[in-house]
Amino acid sequence: MKILNPATGELIADWKEDTPETLSGKFEALREGQKIWSARPVEERLECIKKFGSLVQENKEELAVVLTAETGKPIQQSRNEIAGAHNRIEHLSAYALRALADEVMIDTGSTHEKIRYEPLGVIANISAWNFPYNVGYNVFLYALTAGNGVMYKPSEYAMMTGKQFEKYLHLAGVPEDVFQCVSGGGALGQVMLEMNFDGYFFTGSYRTGRHIAETVAHKLVPVQLELGGKDPLYVADDVPDIKQAAINAAEGAFYNNGQSCCAVERLYVSESIYDQFVEALVEEVRSYTIGDPMSPDTFVGPVTRKAQLEVLRKQVEDAVHKGAILKTGGLPVERKGYYFEPTVLANCDHRMDVMKEESFGPIIGVQKVSSDEEAMALMQDTAYGLTAAVFSSDEQRAGTILNAMDAGTVYWNCCDRVSPYVPWSGRRNSGVGATLSVQGIRAFTQPKAYHWRAPL
Ligand code: NAD
Repeated sequence: MKILNPATGELIADWKEDTPETLSGKFEALREGQKIWSARPVEERLECIKKFGSLVQENKEELAVVLTAETGKPIQQSRNEIAGAHNRIEHLSAYALRALADEVMIDTGSTHEKIRYEPLGVIANISAWNFPYNVGYNVFLYALTAGNGVMYKPSEYAMMTGKQFEKYLHLAGVPEDVFQCVSGGGALGQVMLEMNFDGYFFTGSYRTGRHIAETVAHKLVPVQLELGGKDPLYVADDVPDIKQAAINAAEGAFYNNGQSCCAVERLYVSESIYDQFVEALVEEVRSYTIGDPMSPDTFVGPVTRKAQLEVLRKQVEDAVHKGAILKTGGLPVERKGYYFEPTVLANCDHRMDVMKEESFGPIIGVQKVSSDEEAMALMQDTAYGLTAAVFSSDEQRAGTILNAMDAGTVYWNCCDRVSPYVPWSGRRNSGVGATLSVQGIRAFTQPKAYHWRAPL
C-alpha cells in the first residue's frame, strides 16, 4: 500500500498489506481472546478505554501530525478532532455501566424477569477516512466496552492513524487478541465480508454500504451502516444577523474541506434576505486561508482523494450549464497536491447534481425560496436522511419544519455537529442503525431474556 500526502502527492509510507491468510489468523485469535475479554467485568474493560483516552491526549500533537500528513486535514482541525473525540470516552464513563447492567423488568417474588446485554462476539469495523477518530471511536470503543472483539479496517486513506489506535489500545491493556487493525483497501474489506463475523459495522459511502449489506445479508447478523448525506440548511428571513448566519453556514459547509458526512451540502435562503446572505457568504468563503495543512493558519487544505477533484469540477460544470451563477471558486487550484478552490454557486435548483448528489468537498449550492413550505419540500427532496438544519429566531417555526424531516438528526441554529449523548443515525440512503447514546452502547450487544420462577 502506498500512502501519499494529499498536500504534495508525495509518498509518505509504503505499507505491508494484510492478506486473506493473515486475516484468517487474526480472526481465529480474536475468537479466543473475545471469550476471555467478555468474561472480565465492564469496569475493567472501561478502565482500559479510559487509559487509551489518556494516552491519546498525551500524544495528541504527534497524532495530529500523522492525521494531517495522510488526510490533508488542516493541523488545527486534526487537533480539534483528537481533543473532541475524547467526549466519547467521557460518555462511556458516565453511561456504559448502567447501559450494560442487567435490567430487572418484573420482580414479584415468584416471577423474576430480566434482560442481560451480552456482547455480539467478534465484529468487523470497516471505516472511513474523513474523521477517523470520531467515526472509529463510535464503533470500536463502544464495541470493546460491551465485551466484543474487534477487527478494525481503517480506510486506506487513514491507515497510519488506524495503526496508532491499535498501538495505544494495546498499550492501554486491551489484549492483542481482542483488537486488531488490519491494513488494506476495498479488496481486503471484501475478504472480511466472506468471513464469519458476528456483526458488521460500516462507515462510508452509500455505494459500499449497500454492497456490504447485500453481501452479508445471508449471514443473519447485525449490520449497521453510517453512510453519506446531502444535508440541507434553511436560512429563514427572521435570522437576527444575516452576516453571522452566513459565517456559520459557511463553516458548516467548508469545515474539513466539506468532507464531513454531516457537512451542510445545500443551502436554501428566504428571498427577502437572499442577496445579502449570498454576498456575506461569498465574502466569508473568500477570506479562508488555503494552503499547507501543516500551517496553523490554514482553514482549507487539499481534499483527501485526488479523484474527488474531478467529481467537484463536474458538479460545477453541470450547475453552471443549467443556470447556476459561479460566485467564487470553481476549479482545482494550480499547485502541487489535490486542492480545489472553495466554491459558492448561487441561483441553484434541483435539476443540478450539486443539489442532489453528495459533493464531499469545498463547494456549496444556494437556492432562493419564497416560503417555509417551499423550503420544506426542497429539504425533503433527497434520497438521504442524515441531518437537516434551520436558522431562525422562531423556535416554533423551526420546530414545525424540523419535526417533518425524515432525518436522523435535526439542528436549530446550529449544524454539522455530533454529540455522544444522543444517537447518531441516518435514514434511507444515509444508513441504518445508530451509534452513540445509550442505544449506541447497546448496538454492540444482543439481549437475552431471563424468566426466573420460584420452585413450584
Ligand atoms: P468508501 O465507501 O469509499 O470506503 C469506506 C470503507 O469501505 C473503506 O475502509 C474501504 O476500504 C472499504 N471498502 C471499499 N470497498 C469495499 C468492499 N467491496 N467491501 C468491503 N469494504 C470495502 O467511503 P469513504 O470514502 O472512506 O468515506 C466517505 C463516505 O463516508 C462519505 O459518503 C461520507 O458521507 C461517509 N461517512 C458517513 C459517516 C456517518 O456517520 N454517517 C461518517 C463519515 C463518513
